[in-house]
Amino acid sequence: MYIKESKQTYDAIVIGSGITGGWAAKEFSEKGFKTLLIERGRVVEHRKDYVGEGMPPWEQPLRSKVSLAEIEQQYHVQKNCYAFNDSTKHFFGNDRDLPFETAKGTDFWWIRANQLGGKSLLWHRFSYRWSDFDFNANKLDGFGNDWPIRYQDLAHWYSYVERHVGICGQKESLPQLPDSEFLPPFDMTAPELHIKQQLEAAFPDRKLIHGRQAHLTKPSAHHLAQGRGQCQARNECQKGCSFGAYFSTQSSTLPDAAKTGNLQIAPNSVVHSLIYDGISNRVKGVRVIDNEDLSQREYFGKVVFLCASTLGSTQILLNSRNKTFPNGLANRSGVLGHYLMDHNYNAWARAEIPGFEDAFYSGRRPGGLYIPNFYFKPNPKRPFLRGYGMSAGAYREDWKAMQHEDGIGIAFKQQLQKPGKWQFWLGAQGEMLPRFENSVQLHAFKKDKWGIPQLEINCRFSENERLMMLDAAEQGQLMLEKIGLENVSCGLHDKPPGSGIHELGTARMGRDPKDSVLNGFNQSHDIPNLFVTDGASFCSSAVQNPSLTFMALTVRAVNYAVKEIAARRI
Ligand SMILES: Cc1cc2nc3c(=O)[nH]c(=O)nc-3n(C[C@H](O)[C@H](O)[C@H](O)COP(=O)(O)OP(=O)(O)OC[C@H]3O[C@@H](n4cnc5c(N)ncnc54)[C@H](O)[C@@H]3O)c2cc1C
Ligand code: SF4
Repeated sequence: MYIKESKQTYDAIVIGSGITGGWAAKEFSEKGFKTLLIERGRVVEHRKDYVGEGMPPWEQPLRSKVSLAEIEQQYHVQKNCYAFNDSTKHFFGNDRDLPFETAKGTDFWWIRANQLGGKSLLWHRFSYRWSDFDFNANKLDGFGNDWPIRYQDLAHWYSYVERHVGICGQKESLPQLPDSEFLPPFDMTAPELHIKQQLEAAFPDRKLIHGRQAHLTKPSAHHLAQGRGQCQARNECQKGCSFGAYFSTQSSTLPDAAKTGNLQIAPNSVVHSLIYDGISNRVKGVRVIDNEDLSQREYFGKVVFLCASTLGSTQILLNSRNKTFPNGLANRSGVLGHYLMDHNYNAWARAEIPGFEDAFYSGRRPGGLYIPNFYFKPNPKRPFLRGYGMSAGAYREDWKAMQHEDGIGIAFKQQLQKPGKWQFWLGAQGEMLPRFENSVQLHAFKKDKWGIPQLEINCRFSENERLMMLDAAEQGQLMLEKIGLENVSCGLHDKPPGSGIHELGTARMGRDPKDSVLNGFNQSHDIPNLFVTDGASFCSSAVQNPSLTFMALTVRAVNYAVKEIAARRI
């Protein structure tokens, strides 16, 4: 299945093997297309290469910490990700090899995962559908271009991917958060059930619901046939999971694609640029630099899907400029590289939960609860546009609450063994508006070790996002006080864009080729056999975690491309 050189002209080339690329490869292979999946990084085999799995902190030299020297030399950006530690570091991009610039006075945390499987190995699996309030938002307040699709265009494809992926959660019939095809949710704890009841009574417009996650709480026959098993609630996921109990390329899409016999994978193949044929106005192949020995090779195909993650795909398009497209391939509109977005997680609130001293829980639930956006309807009286969702959860303090206390003797040991107070926390996830000035471009002269121009990122949160986070902190405090929690506090972080790890935009969709790169099927307006199906295609960010929508868009785009090829329009 793994190849290096190839003379074959593939029916489909997919660039990037993360969440979107895995889906594109599976769909094309299953439709009988001879498919080449190109990945810049090394091979990571399911189970065999989860080297941190099952290793407790006390067996690690620095108790799961990464040495400061290693961080400074190789992970000075990646270290900012909450999931970065000694058991997961090998799944993060290496900042020494993957340099990028930020415009003066700006900062951006570009968190990457450059191996087979991409960030599908590292993600937190929260999976929420978008609603028409999200697809209509740009049109209603005029900020950003109108999405060329609506919920009904995606509803079928959401169901299609959800049945395969396995999403746990509970039906709620909320207008702003359509239900998925659910497996049973993880349980709420006793204090969470109490808080849910109090909060929904005190704030009738707000709901505290189960987080919806790509975990097999009760695998179906279809999931078992993928070789996946039931989630054991260990919360070890980002080390890789041999049960295949969370969705990743390795556990789910790749095995199905491989079964068809139609898939070949070119690992360690860094795509430098796309090969464009001006006579046919088609992309006919891909130029690649070998990840290890820096040699060059080319692959040829009839249709090309860019799934290299939002900024990875845009970097490839910008670097594929030529005489016909001097500002980046498929960029007649001039918007390629613009309207970069992320989510803003900068507001929080916290409180102690009185009572429940006799309540505890078993297992380590790998996720939490969610308060869906209660500002989903536009309201000109609010000082900012759009809204935010909130992650939430209760936990009981354990010995770690005393980790900074000195002590010795029996009394101290017994104190460490006693469960501590119940705490409740809220964390905002706010929408970021699409702004032309938030952008990426190729650096004028700085290149990486493969000779590819570095990206220069120029991105800031605006006053709208600042006001939104102030409101989220205040509302968080208000909610926790009103339902009788104690020692309530709230606050703001100052993390830059990129910290949400939901990069979106820079090759957006649209109806008008003059103001968008892609049409409503993720197909380039300018070059018919070129598609971009990752987050680059987004016109707005909404508040929900985006990867489920990436998957739905990808399978829909493959389905469309296959029909267009059959009709000889591609
Ligand atoms: C810790 C963490 C938690 C997250 N939690 C969530 C969550 O709960 N819910 C959610 O929706 N999202 C979450 N995300 C984000 C989610 O992981 C991404 O949105 C998703 O993986 C993006 O899919 P993708 O296919 O676009 O890119 P990726 O999964 O990043 O895959 C892109 C692939 O393309 C390859 N590539 C890039 N450039 C090139 C090139 N030039 N040549 C060849 N190959 C290339 C990369 O090596 C990579 O393998 C989280 C991310 C992280 C890191
Ligand atoms: S919590 Fe579930 S998905 Fe995560 S590592 Fe454990 S078994 Fe795997």
